Amino acid sequence: MSEALVTFLKARLDDETELARRCDGDGCGRWSAHGDTVDFCEVEISGFPPAIALHLALHDPARVLREIEAKRRVLARHVLSPAVGDPELPWEDRDDCQFDGDPWPCGDLLDLASPYVDHPDFPRGA
Ligand SMILES: [Zn+2]
Repeated sequence: MSEALVTFLKARLDDETELARRCDGDGCGRWSAHGDTVDFCEVEISGFPPAIALHLALHDPARVLREIEAKRRVLARHVLSPAVGDPELPWEDRDDCQFDGDPWPCGDLLDLASPYVDHPDFPRGA
């Protein structure tokens, strides 16, 4: 699968970054929930079941952007170390992760990708 999963993940993080920035408006502050109401800074909307209001507020754009940056740092650490194909080095005859040495794509990358399994561009055959 080489770098297909990494390319896919970077595209999803780019999409989410753009959406979070569009929702940030003028950077007025943090989204919060109060009972059935969510304060989106620019507007308050009521009538949500309280758990859903809390869930929506959890997706405050600034928090989402911090989470995306954390995922980008994980991606930057888990880099493909391609097989070298040298018969003298049989342990080097597979693609693996430079960070943890696990077969490529490593478990951390698969975990990062797992929320997107229903995306139409999700690379199959990982
Ligand atoms: Zn890894």
